[in-house]
Amino acid sequence: MNSVVRQLGRGLRSAAPVLRRDVHSGGSRSASATAAKKSEQPLAAEEIYAREEKYGAHNYHPLPVALERGEGVFVWDVEGSRYFDFLSAYSAVNQGHCHPKIIAALNAQASKLTLTSRAFYNDILGEYEEFVTNMFGYDKVLPMNTGVEGGETACKLARKWAYNVKGVPQNKAKIVFADGNFWGRTLAAISSSTDPTCYEGFGPLMPGFELVPFNDIPALEQALQDPHVAAFMVEPIQGEAGVVVPDEGYLTKVRELCTRHNVLWIADEVQTGLARTGRRLAVDHEQVRPDVVILGKALSGGVYPVSAVLCDDEIMLTIKPGEHGSTYGGNPIACRVAIAALQVMEEEKLAENAEKMGKLLRNELRKLPSDVVTMVRGKGLLNAIVIKETKDYDAWKVCLRFRDNGLLAKPTHGDIIRLAPPLTINEQQLRECVDIIHRTVVSL
Ligand code: PLP
Repeated sequence: MNSVVRQLGRGLRSAAPVLRRDVHSGGSRSASATAAKKSEQPLAAEEIYAREEKYGAHNYHPLPVALERGEGVFVWDVEGSRYFDFLSAYSAVNQGHCHPKIIAALNAQASKLTLTSRAFYNDILGEYEEFVTNMFGYDKVLPMNTGVEGGETACKLARKWAYNVKGVPQNKAKIVFADGNFWGRTLAAISSSTDPTCYEGFGPLMPGFELVPFNDIPALEQALQDPHVAAFMVEPIQGEAGVVVPDEGYLTKVRELCTRHNVLWIADEVQTGLARTGRRLAVDHEQVRPDVVILGKALSGGVYPVSAVLCDDEIMLTIKPGEHGSTYGGNPIACRVAIAALQVMEEEKLAENAEKMGKLLRNELRKLPSDVVTMVRGKGLLNAIVIKETKDYDAWKVCLRFRDNGLLAKPTHGDIIRLAPPLTINEQQLRECVDIIHRTVVSL
């Protein structure tokens, strides 16, 4: 690796690919072209890995594949190989890669007005605010950029509401989370985490956060007895924890308990929302309405960081000018892109397709040999398989084989592989993917 890195350092400054082509310039033209292509192709990807390794922080462990292009459900690597994308950038690319309508919105706005900051009004923010609040049925929206900022915003709103409306004594407000939650990487987000990889070595952590087991109504009921509890924040399906689907009726009971104890229910729909699970929001499966909804990821179709917090006036108006914000939050590009991304979700009936394709996918996955795939779970097109590890293979190695067979997925939490393609996938494509998955698993 070191020699690759050193070579790369030199190559970068002196146009390495051209030099390598020169090295292979002997012999007939076509033979040399083939040789050059052969020698370049693997090296190009290796170079990309090495450059990131050398100059980037080591806070990720990517699957070795170097992508350069995406369209719809497909991505292509630098060597021209095509893959089905079964991660969809952690469900940000629900609308498919580089959706023409979203890209057109981005381009049109980018050459007109990109950022005003919230120091001034602009002609698009209000249009977006009206659009998104009407679509989801809330009084107001607070625009941010990333999912974790959405979570932070929801927590701040809950605390303000607790002091100003519920009457919790100052600095005593508590927010309850579920074990296994994931809502990002800020200090507040990791303070609610039960995963030591997320929080160890980053203390001291945020006070006022409590935990209950996920999908455990009696435990929640007990936690909500405390009059200082402001909110219960929960993902309707825990994505990063490995696509953990709660029992049917869980969300309905969460709604009932929060109402009974005057506690805000915050639904983190950053991963589950926007058609991913077969409904516009995952809470729609039980037709329940959270007090606060957090959206992100697919709110831009993977084009731009856009997140949003939706709630009614009683909660939203507790925050006054100057008390919260973000330079880029609600910028003109973000607003145009988000409107287009939401329109695509509706026009292309992505929720319906996710529901239909998800059923088909799970049906097929359940036919896989159970000594390798011990569990299949999910809703819509947010799915996971659990791999039984042996001395020969684990989920990581299975993903490498998927890659070799033309499908990209990534393990989450050791033995779990999430399977979440863009929601634009059609039946023929899905069947091709099922075939890849089947062939790979059988080959183990
Ligand atoms: N909430 C949920 C449920 C998530 O899955 C994630 C990211 O995976 C986040 C919040 C954080 O989003 P971001 O990475 O955009 O900050």
